[in-house]
Amino acid sequence: MARILVAVAWPYANGPFHLGHLAGAYLPGDIFARFHRLRGDEVLMVSGSDMHGTPILVAAEKEGRPPAEVAERFDAINRSAFEKLGFSFDLFTTTRTIVHERTVQEVFLALLEHGFVRRRTEESPYCPQHRRFLPDRYLVGTCPHCGFESARGDECDRCGRPLEARTLLQPRCSLCGTPAELRPTEHFYLELDRLQPRLAEYLAEQGHWRPGTLRVAENFLAEGLHPTPITRDLDWGVPLPLDGYATKRFYVWFEALIGYLSASKEWAIRAGRPDAWHRFWDVRESVRQYYFVGKDNKFHHTIVWPSVLIGVGGFRLPFDVPANEWLLVGGKKVSKSRTQEQDAFIPSLLQNYPPDVIRFYGAILAPEHHDTELDWDEFHNLRYEILANQYGNLVQRTLVLARERFAGRIPSPPEGWTPDLLSGTGARIRDAHRKITDALEAVRLKEALDLALEEVREANRRFHEAKPWQGSDSDRARTIYETAWRLRAIALWLSPTLPFSSAEVYRMLGFANPPSPGDWETALEPVPAGQPLGEIRPLFPRPEPAPKEGAAGVAPAAGPSGDVPLALRVGVIRSATVHPSADRLYVLEVDDGGSKPRTIVAGLRSSYPEEALRGRPVVFVANLAPRTIRRVTSQGMVLAAESGERAVLLSPPEGITAGAYVPGSGPEDRMVTHEEFSSVALSVGRAGANAAGGRTPVDLGGRTVSVLGEWPAGTVGIVRRPSEASSEGVFLSFGPGNPIHPSEAVPLGAKVR
Ligand SMILES: [Zn+2]
Ligand SMILES: [Zn+2]
Repeated sequence: MARILVAVAWPYANGPFHLGHLAGAYLPGDIFARFHRLRGDEVLMVSGSDMHGTPILVAAEKEGRPPAEVAERFDAINRSAFEKLGFSFDLFTTTRTIVHERTVQEVFLALLEHGFVRRRTEESPYCPQHRRFLPDRYLVGTCPHCGFESARGDECDRCGRPLEARTLLQPRCSLCGTPAELRPTEHFYLELDRLQPRLAEYLAEQGHWRPGTLRVAENFLAEGLHPTPITRDLDWGVPLPLDGYATKRFYVWFEALIGYLSASKEWAIRAGRPDAWHRFWDVRESVRQYYFVGKDNKFHHTIVWPSVLIGVGGFRLPFDVPANEWLLVGGKKVSKSRTQEQDAFIPSLLQNYPPDVIRFYGAILAPEHHDTELDWDEFHNLRYEILANQYGNLVQRTLVLARERFAGRIPSPPEGWTPDLLSGTGARIRDAHRKITDALEAVRLKEALDLALEEVREANRRFHEAKPWQGSDSDRARTIYETAWRLRAIALWLSPTLPFSSAEVYRMLGFANPPSPGDWETALEPVPAGQPLGEIRPLFPRPEPAPKEGAAGVAPAAGPSGDVPLALRVGVIRSATVHPSADRLYVLEVDDGGSKPRTIVAGLRSSYPEEALRGRPVVFVANLAPRTIRRVTSQGMVLAAESGERAVLLSPPEGITAGAYVPGSGPEDRMVTHEEFSSVALSVGRAGANAAGGRTPVDLGGRTVSVLGEWPAGTVGIVRRPSEASSEGVFLSFGPGNPIHPSEAVPLGAKVR
């Protein structure tokens, strides 16, 4: 049994955390801790809210509130988000505890005594207007490394380098913009240069780290370490345990790192075993410490923290720092201070999606080796295709069959059945189990997830080849018995990542308890024959339809209330190739303004030659549930009018760029089923002469309906109505005079699909 400390980066309490932070640091920590508990290892997982530092002060000053209030508000928000996401912290605390304050002061005094902390007087930036020094975020200026103009006093948001205030170009006060002056002030410095030789010895033994992380640490060493100040002229933070420094506090970065140690002590006190923290820290203990942090924390965790631990002495040093790279949104680093992507904040995601779906996306994105782009299309596609269609459906079909054909129990395998450990089911599960275990052990979490998902695909393949809904009872029993075994193993393997749905699969398989500590190896055991199943429910239910707008609600800009929320967008066809196994279909690559084109399967082969499609602007439904048509997954539908046997594509007005939403469209994150889509009436119509009172009569080929807005007579466009029966609708348009229209003449009333 191994002993593992899982130290998770401390969320900074100046805002809600984001999918980027989740994927980058927090979730990998939880997955790793859960895996080790399942293996029966002794795990301590700690973190907490980082409550001090100038970003909170600056935010509080702008709001006119005390900093404690701001920090506590975001601590509560983030705490609740972690809880809802199912995080398994042994302790999630804050840096505003007595234990923390004392621990920081003890560490500081030890470093001082050992000669690794010294006093120096240096010139520091000062705002003559505010009559104060300008530590960290109180100072802005141009980064001397990359030229970024809004770099902060302590680090650059663009190049990620830690900065020293004195090196910033054009330094100025972040509150009033006054150019900063330099004035002398006394501070304590951590003498990293004196710790460098021992740090270099330690880093030379870390060949198992991710190459990117090790390289960053080695580069810092190669450049040579310098003394770095660990105090600030501030009144918010942990005070110094020395007389004469009442106007100074510890630098938040120095102090928060010590949080891993103080949180371990607090955990021990709360557990009623105040000395138990030694088991995870003492140099004589056999423990491995893992620090799960983001890319921008590499310096602090690979250089500063080991140096502090070396300087104090008697402590274990980090065994691994599995730092992730950045998750990018719209090409930019996800950052609390700069992002516009409100939707990617965890509290708002939690309002719309179950926790496992958010965890799944965070885990599959996991930017372990390079920066990764967040892609909402991919998010929805994965959710439907992998979770609901592949995993959820297989659970459902297998167990429903067992319920109906075997009286709600796991059937006994046929006479003479063996696990077939050489070439069959047993061999496959054993092999996968070994690979997944190795990957998790080595903190290759994404690889472990991919391997488990491959087993979901394999289980599906086997199930469908065996066709257990036909054939003999004994073949059926064998297929269900083996599939149930695979599902048990899959639920276990996925349990660190998807704890809620794994517990649900276990419940449906008839187990009394969800996957629990020490259960890991039971992946290799079939579900007991005769075990009664639990009630079968969808594993990843379709989201509830959006609430209908009430009478008092605001109707969407261009649709009668109660409409199916179609997200209609403009795209440009990049390429069209004949579907490999359906020659009346094209597989289109459509540029929707995103980083990569979206694949849409369209029945246009008999209407358009390939060359007539390339470069052509089209209108497509962006939120149609993805559908796999003979192994090609279509992410949407290109709209065309039916003109006899021909499909006539629609044209957006001139000058509309790829990716644009048709005004009045619904949000893309609410998927629409094909059934819902077919209830919407879209038809070609022509405006009549007597528009009045904000409405226009429109001829749908013999039938007249009333369309919102006063359109010039003769305007031809696409009328959208909530259903065929409805006599009121809207033109799909980009504003007055800019209707979407068929690209060639078609009969009035032609249906659009
Ligand atoms: Zn920079
Ligand atoms: Zn100022």
